[in-house]
Order: sequence, then C-alpha cells, then structure tokens
Amino acid sequence: MQNGFDVQAVRQDFPILDVQVHGKPLVYLDSAATSQKPQAVIDSLVDYYTRYNANVHRGIYTLSEQATAAYEDARAKVARFINAPSPECIIFVRNTTEAINLVRFAWGFDNVGANDEILISEMEHHSNLVPWQLLAQDRGAELRYLRVNNEGRLMLDGLDVLITERTRLIAVSHVSNVLGTINPVKGIVKRGHKFGSLVLVDAAQSVPHMPVDVQEMDCDFLAFSGHKMMGPTGVGVLYAKPHLLEAMRPFMGGGSMIRKVMLSESTWADAPQKFEAGTPNIADVIALGAAVDYLNELGMDDVREHELSLTQYALDALREVTGLRMFGPWEPQTRGGVVSFVLDGVHPHDIAQILDSEAIAIRAGHHCCQPLMRRYNVAATARASFYAYNTEEEVDALIDGIHKAQRVFGHAVERSL
Ligand code: PMP
Repeated sequence: MQNGFDVQAVRQDFPILDVQVHGKPLVYLDSAATSQKPQAVIDSLVDYYTRYNANVHRGIYTLSEQATAAYEDARAKVARFINAPSPECIIFVRNTTEAINLVRFAWGFDNVGANDEILISEMEHHSNLVPWQLLAQDRGAELRYLRVNNEGRLMLDGLDVLITERTRLIAVSHVSNVLGTINPVKGIVKRGHKFGSLVLVDAAQSVPHMPVDVQEMDCDFLAFSGHKMMGPTGVGVLYAKPHLLEAMRPFMGGGSMIRKVMLSESTWADAPQKFEAGTPNIADVIALGAAVDYLNELGMDDVREHELSLTQYALDALREVTGLRMFGPWEPQTRGGVVSFVLDGVHPHDIAQILDSEAIAIRAGHHCCQPLMRRYNVAATARASFYAYNTEEEVDALIDGIHKAQRVFGHAVERSL
C-alpha cells in the first residue's frame, strides 16, 4: 500500500493484468498511449449491447429512452468530472485529435484570418500542432512557437513577445506526453486573455491523472480522450465555454444536429447536438461514464498521489543507471507519471524489445512529437508511463529490464568494435 492507496485492490479490477506475455506476468507501463480498462467499464459495454441497445434521441420507446438517458447521464458525469458549468458544454467526439480539429474547423475558419497569429509550444503532440499548421496555411495566419528549455519546461519569458494583439488562439498541452512536464496553464490562460486571445488546453495527459477544473483554469477549450482514462477507444471530449459553442458553426452536417431543414438552407440545434451529427458512439460514451464513476471512486487526488510517489520512486532509480539520459524535469511535483529516456549505445526500439521479452510494455519512438525530438537532438526515446494500477515492483522490473538491455546491447556494441 502506498499513501493509503490500495493498489493491489485496484489491480483486482483490471482483468488484463492477469494476462501472461511470454509466460511471464504482464507489466503494463504504456498508459500514456492508452490505459487499461476496469471490469466496470467492460461490463458497461456488454450491459448496453445485451440489455438496451437502441439509437438515442429518436425512438419513443422504452429501450431508446433508456439508451438516451444513459448517454446523457454520461455527459453530465463528464461535465461534473472537470467541473464544467453545464453538460451542454461537453461535446462527444472520437478522441483528443478530433476535439482539436473540431475547434480548427468550427471556430478557426471564422475567427483566424490573414496575419493573425496562433501560438503553440514546441512540446505539443502532433494532434495539437498539425491542425494549427493547416489552419495557419489555410488562413494566411502565422504559427508561433513557445520554446522548451533543457530541463523540459516552457520558456514562459517568451510569452511577452510571442503574445500580441493579433494572437487569436494559444493551444498548449497541460501535461507533456514525452517530458511529463505539467505546464502552468492557468497563468498562460490569464496572459492570453489579457490580449484577447482564446486558449485551448490539450488535457489528454492530465484529465486521466489529476483533478482538472475547467472553471478554475478558465480555458476556452479543453480536449481529452476516453481511452487514456480507463474508458473505451473511440470516444473523446471537447469542452468549450457555452457562448463559444453558441457562436460556432457546425463541424459536420447531417442528422441530429438540425433544428429545421429546408431545400435551400437549414438551421441548427443548440449545442451539444449541433456538434454531434449522425448516430453517436453510444456504447462507448456510456462506458466512459462508467470510467468516470470508477475514477471518482478511486478519488483523483489519490490517483495523483499514487502516481507522484511512483514517479519519485522511478526517478530515484533511473538516476542510478549509468549511461541513461532522462528528459523532462527531475522534480515529480511538477510532472505527471511519464518518464522518457535514452541509453548510451542502445536504440530505444531495442530497449522496448528486450523489455517485451520480460513482458514489460513500454513505448519507443518519437511519441508523435517530432519537433520536440529534434529540440533534444534524438530520433526517439523510450517511455514508461504509470497509472493507478502500477506498483513499485513493476518499476523495479523496468529497471532490471534496462540493465538487461545494457548487458545485451552493450556487449553487442563491444563485439562490433
Ligand atoms: N495530446 C497528447 C498530449 C497526447 O498524449 C495524445 C495521445 N498520445 C494526444 C493528444 C492524441 O490523443 P488521441 O490519439 O486519443 O487523439
């Protein structure tokens, strides 16, 4: 037990943690890519398909009403989870990427023009970078970058020159998926608003791992993915302030998003329906609601505490590994449970392969952050990431695996000399 948090009890809720890989117990350290799912979420999917599968917002019969109630209940749960002022501010999409692209199309095309500026950071995931590159190209706007220092923190002094009265949007991640850095988004929002800019927060790596309060943060848009927060794949969330949703044009046209359709033109339903054209991902939205229930039961403060202590434990151990270069800040208080590193003489893919032979799942590659890789002069890193179900023993297994990779590939390097 760490910090009064019963991780062994939590593990019992995740059937996949009993799986064996190469005859050894799975050590899953890739939750930043996607998290594992508790039985309650799996049950919720099966329950929907076996007991009340029907389309929502349409049928005037019991099953459809049940499905609609469960779907809208999930929206209310998600709203409460991030302290949104109302469920109508929650738009269900496929993932973080789609949430950000929704803002690009439904807000960006009407609000970003020639010579306007969009400010993002060098540590953004491609899904919070490429959409803004495309919008800037489409609108003749300028894309500006807040740089990252050697320690893996945003160089906030740069904001003074980077934000101008032409800045229309600042789009920044709350927690970096490579460096683990927790960015001071509340301060960035404040400074952006002073210049009349809106601020979008990519919360893909924060909402699953720590309490997030959109009203306190005062961000205009917030995007995250269900699959990284113990929910199923195929469902993500865009939060936006109500007055913005009211002013924004629809992202996609079709069924369910209209008020009235005539031959020459149409009018739109209010948000959130305006942005949810077609049959939504009913089952996965409902199961995301179950994931939110589960996380609330664990308690987000306790989830954060547990990951903090695990990250401290991992950083202490990684510091002792010779030839290991760690990226991101060393103080666990200012970072999430993501650790990226490279080893002298061992390619990150080889580290991942050796670890896999020990049933340890980590990620190796550029993590959809090529500009950040270039900033640190590496092609790829190895990345381990933690969640509520991980243990110190699993961190020990990671460190043993790293030593094994050094032994295997260290010898290989020597032999080839
Ligand atoms: N932003 C960040 C910070 C992420 O870590 C990820 C997922 N790796 C994304 C955006 C994209 O999430 P998705 O693939 O679910 O759209």
